[in-house]
Amino acid sequence: MKIHEFQAKEVFSSFGIPVPPGKVAATPAEARDAARALGLPVVVKAQIYAGGRGKAGGVRLVESAEEAESAAAAMLDRPLVTHQTGPEGRIVKRVLVENASDIEQEVYLGITIDRARRAPVVMASPAGGVEIEEIARKTPERIFKEWASPQIGLRPFQAHRLADRLGLNAKTTRAVAAVITNLYRAFAETDCTLAEINPLAIVSDGAALAIDAKLNLDDNALFRHPDLASLRDPNEISDLELEAGKYNLNYIKLDGNVGCLVNGAGLAMATMDLIGLAGASPANFLDVGGGANEEMIEHGFDILLSDSDVEAVFINIFGGILRCDILARGIVAATRHRDFDLPVVIRLEGTNVEEGRRILAESGLGFRSASTLSEAAALVAQAVSKEAA
Ligand code: GDP
Ligand code: MN
Repeated sequence: MKIHEFQAKEVFSSFGIPVPPGKVAATPAEARDAARALGLPVVVKAQIYAGGRGKAGGVRLVESAEEAESAAAAMLDRPLVTHQTGPEGRIVKRVLVENASDIEQEVYLGITIDRARRAPVVMASPAGGVEIEEIARKTPERIFKEWASPQIGLRPFQAHRLADRLGLNAKTTRAVAAVITNLYRAFAETDCTLAEINPLAIVSDGAALAIDAKLNLDDNALFRHPDLASLRDPNEISDLELEAGKYNLNYIKLDGNVGCLVNGAGLAMATMDLIGLAGASPANFLDVGGGANEEMIEHGFDILLSDSDVEAVFINIFGGILRCDILARGIVAATRHRDFDLPVVIRLEGTNVEEGRRILAESGLGFRSASTLSEAAALVAQAVSKEAA
């Protein structure tokens, strides 16, 4: 789960990381009042889950309260398109108004899980800011790394060694090492998959200040952080994902054109790989889990078909606890109340498979059955390439 910049800054602040004073505003008038209360100049920052706002007009430095008001008016209730949002962008519902900082240098700090090393990796670069992706691609040697022990955490000498490599003066090096230590504590104690400060601003008196803040929380550990879980912003979650959540289904939107209905995350991954191997790509996947009932399947299939990118459907079910006949009834029920002419490829195995196949065959709908996974993937790839032709 992601949270907004202003929320991540509150978390950072509670871990002793310095952040600029700021206020959240939902209207241009609130932004004007916030600017007056904070003192000028201020930056007005669009609050969306995606990054890349600076380059897209979502971060504006202004000198007066009136300018803060008009900057907020230009952002609020409109989509902001950045290189991370996709072409439709994200509607801005709030802006963060913050005291502007006099930045001398922008440092990058980030912590994530290095799966290959099975340990958190702490990264730092003296070349932070909006071009960090470019730096990572072209001069990756300018990003320094330390790996923390999952048991012991990041040792103090590691934080200092990392800060030392940034080429800053002694006072600033100490300040940055303290931020690294606190960022690691925030990462570990709130169960993050990513904690990032880009930029960490080095300001004129040599202090370090988190200008931007990103925290991605591990969904599997959210139950330990009810206060953070409650920050979930429905405005940032697609309607279909929200709808799926209501029925306890796991729906993930992707950017291809094959809709996938599967049971189990492992099977979902294997299914997507096979679709890729066959030369197509998934529009989404809907994981109905192990113990879905007919109603859940019906709603799930309905959600999957509501995705306008879907040009063909791949149903890949290994019925264990989920019986194939229940699955088939749910699918037939979902297709009953909508015009339905998409090609559907089904690969069904497991409990009550004969009954499931019979229900689908007698439904009068044009399902194509496949007996193996790779045959099914080839069929569905063929179906989308025909649609495209
Ligand atoms: P992002 O583009 O979504 O990552 O948004 P950021 O919060 O990182 O802001 C983008 C860029 O705007 C930063 O890298 C800074 O260069 C600039 N910026 C943001 N806040 C300030 C500020 O208070 N003062 C100055 N001078 N620049 C700022
Ligand atoms: Mn940033």
